[in-house]
Order: sequence, then C-alpha cells, then structure tokens
Amino acid sequence: MPAEEVTPAIVLRNRDYAESDRIVSLLTRDGGKLSGIAKGAKQSRRRFERKLELFSHVMLYFRRRPHGDLVFITKAEAGELAPYDLSDDLGKIALGSYMVELADALIREGTDTSEPYSILAASLGALARHGASASLRQAFELQLLRWAGYELEFRQCRLCGAVPGAQAQTLTFVPTRGGIVCSRCRDGISVTGGVALGAASAAALARLGAAPIETASEAEPGGADSALAIARFVASVLDRRLRSLQFLDTIL
Ligand SMILES: [Zn+2]
Repeated sequence: MPAEEVTPAIVLRNRDYAESDRIVSLLTRDGGKLSGIAKGAKQSRRRFERKLELFSHVMLYFRRRPHGDLVFITKAEAGELAPYDLSDDLGKIALGSYMVELADALIREGTDTSEPYSILAASLGALARHGASASLRQAFELQLLRWAGYELEFRQCRLCGAVPGAQAQTLTFVPTRGGIVCSRCRDGISVTGGVALGAASAAALARLGAAPIETASEAEPGGADSALAIARFVASVLDRRLRSLQFLDTIL
C-alpha cells in the first residue's frame, strides 16, 4: 500500500457522494493538485475535524491508489492553518469562488503546485482579512497567470520596448501578444481582441503583478479597462467560461 502523505491543502471543489462521503478536488502545497474521496466526511468529526467545504484550508492526510484517479483521504485537520472565513460577506464569497475556479482551470494535475498554492493561500487570506477588491483580484490573476507561463507585459511595448510616458497615452493590450503595444507599433499588426488601456491602468497592473499579494488590497487597482484586458486574456487561454464570473461581475 502506498505510504500516507501529509500536506497543507485548499479545497477547490467538492460534491457529496453516497450517504456520508465526499469527493473533493484540492490544491496541495506538496502533493500537486488532487482529486480524492473522503469516506465518512460528512459524519466523522474525529477524522474530519475541518470539513472539506469549499475554501477549507486543511492538513490533508491521504494515500495514493495504484489504480484509479482518486486518492484516498484519511484525515483532514486544522493543524496550524488559518481558516479562510469568507461567509460573512457576498463579495468575499464571489471573489473567493472565482479564485478557486480560476486556479482549478489553470492548474493541471501532475505539476508542482507549491507556488500556486502559496499564491492562492495568500490571496484567500488577504480576502478574508480585507474583503474583496479589484486590486486583490488583479494581483491574484496576474500572479497565477505568470506561474502558468503567461507573464503579461504592462511596463513596456511588447514589440519595440518603448516605455510609455507619464502623459496620458493610450496603449493597446493585445491578448495574442500577452501585453501592451504602443501606438506606433499598433498600426503594423493584427490587434484582434485588443483593449485600449490607459497609461495609469498599465502602470497599476505592472505594480500589482510584481507586488506581494498581502499588500495588494491597499494598492491602487487598474481601472475598468484593466479588468476587461485581463478578462479577455483569461478567456483566450481557457477552454470554458468560468461559472463564478457572472456572479462576481454583478457583485464587484
Ligand atoms: Zn512599440
């Protein structure tokens, strides 16, 4: 029998199974992204001190199975892990739901997940403490995208490297280029799906993409043009529309 593994983990998705079991998808720090079955999760307080609800932050004890995709979850406890209490506020629930769904969509099983775990853990922690904000959302999106291999460029023109001046200059964010393009370069290329982006918004996104998540809630967010630019890019790399997005857009 495979050895028992232990790792901090965050619940991305769950569903009830049979009378007292639960099937969960988790992002772990040390064991990758996992799907597992927790027998008796709805009843055993001893083994499942912290229930495997959406956003639950748990010390996960599990065994991999030689055959089959689901790992066997033996225990989930609080340990030293801070809970993410999002239940007191609709904005927190909406942004938190979007965060876990985007993480689930961008992270494949079988990859090293210590970095996206840190990004998601820090983001849900900041969300629980400071509430939902556009700046936290943007910092989370940019940093998770960078981990996934999509490092978006907002500091300089993707083509010629020109740094936008302080004057209000309109740039174009081009999803297929993964960054901004200056007005001189724009004329020579296809800008399908492009979004006009103000210099202030581009500067805000450049800062949020590089700053620690913990400080994002107090930072200046990019404007509505930034939100549109990131949304276009996310839609261009995912094969499905995120269910949480509509709810989030009505709340934030
Ligand atoms: Zn240029």
